[in-house]
Amino acid sequence: MSFEDYHGVWVFLEVRDGQIAPVSLELLGAGRQLADKRHTELAGVIIGEGVRQLAGTAFEYGADQVYVYDAPIYRHYRTETFMKALFACTHKYKPEIILFGATTTGKDLASAVATDLPTGLTADTTMLDVEEDTGLLLASRPAFGGNIMATILCKKYRPQMATVRPKVMKALTPEPGRTGVVVEESIPLQEDEVRTKVLEIVRETAKKVKIDEADIIVAGGKGLGSAAGFELIHQLADVMGAAVGASRDVVEAGWIGHHHQVGQTGVTVTPKIYFAIGISGAIQHIVGMQNSGLIIAINKDPAAAIFQNCHYGIVGDAFEIVPMLIAELKQALR
Ligand code: FAD
Repeated sequence: MSFEDYHGVWVFLEVRDGQIAPVSLELLGAGRQLADKRHTELAGVIIGEGVRQLAGTAFEYGADQVYVYDAPIYRHYRTETFMKALFACTHKYKPEIILFGATTTGKDLASAVATDLPTGLTADTTMLDVEEDTGLLLASRPAFGGNIMATILCKKYRPQMATVRPKVMKALTPEPGRTGVVVEESIPLQEDEVRTKVLEIVRETAKKVKIDEADIIVAGGKGLGSAAGFELIHQLADVMGAAVGASRDVVEAGWIGHHHQVGQTGVTVTPKIYFAIGISGAIQHIVGMQNSGLIIAINKDPAAAIFQNCHYGIVGDAFEIVPMLIAELKQALR
C-alpha cells in the first residue's frame, strides 16, 4: 500500500427524511478545514434513492465533489448495500480520510467498511486535526471515563476513518450557488443478492426530539419514584421543546425506552443545557453527559455525586422544584 495513492477528504452524507443530516453538514465544515490544510479536495458520498439533487446542498456547505449512488436498492439503509457501495468507491478513488457522523447509521457503516478494507477507525471523535506534512489524521476523543483526551493515529493503513459526534463540529455558512462536480457511480448489485429485507418501518410516535441532536435535554433518574413521577420530566421538557433523557435504572424499570438512556451503555450527549433530575451521578451516567454546555442538577441529597459534575446544583425535592420551574418557564416563554 503506497500512501501516495491516497488523496482527498471524504464525508459520508447521511440522508434523513429526504435531507442531508445536520451532522453531515457539520462534518463538511470540519472536512473543509482538513482538506484545505492538506491542499486537497473535499468530497461527499451520498447513497440512497432520489438523492442526486442533494449534491447541491453539499456544495453549498463546502464540498468540491460528490459521489452519488442513486438506485432503488438504496431506498432504505442496509449495512450490506451501503457498505458494498462505499467499499467500491473507496477502492476506486482512494481517499486519505473518511468522516462519518457518530449516529446509528454512521457507526454501523463506518465499522463495516473499516473491517472490510481493512483500516483503523476512531469512534466518537470530538476533535479533528491533520498533520500538514504527513497527512496523519489526529482524531481526539475522551478516554478513561473522560479523564483524559486521547489522540488516535492510524499510521499504517489508509484511508484513515473516524466517526464524529453530532453537534461538536460547526457547519459552514452555506454559500448559495456554490457548485462542484457530481460523479455518478454504481455497482452491479441485485436485490436477490441482498440478505437483509426491510419489511416495515415503524416510526416512534412518542417524543420527537432526538436526544443526540437536542440543544436541551431534561434527564430524569430513579429519584422520580415511578413511571407516573417521571411524567414530570416530560412536562418540563415539553415547555422548552427539549429532549428527554434518562438514567439506566429508569430504562431498566421500563419508564422509558432504551434510546433515551444517557451514559456508558446509552447515548453520549453534548447539549447546550442538560438537566439531571433525581439522578445520583454514577460515573457510568456522567461519561455520557459531562461535555454538556451547562449542567443543572436537582437532587434532594446534598452529598449526591451529581453535584460534583454540574455547573448549578439545586438541593431539594424534584416534586417541589420542577413544578415551580415549569410555571416560571411557561410565564417567561409565553
Ligand atoms: P439512583 O442511583 O438510585 O439515584 C437516584 C437519585 O435520586 C439519588 O441521588 C436520590 O438522592 C435522588 N432522589 C430521590 N428522590 C428524589 C426527589 N424526590 N427529588 C430529587 N432527587 C431525589 N447508568 C446510566 O445512567 N447510564 C448508563 O449508560 C449506565 N451504564 C452502566 C454500565 C455498567 C457496566 C454498569 C455497572 C452500570 C451502568 N449504569 C448506567 C448504572 C449506574 O451505575 C447507576 O446505577 C445509575 O446511573 C443510577 O441511576 P439513578 O441515578 O437514576 O438512580
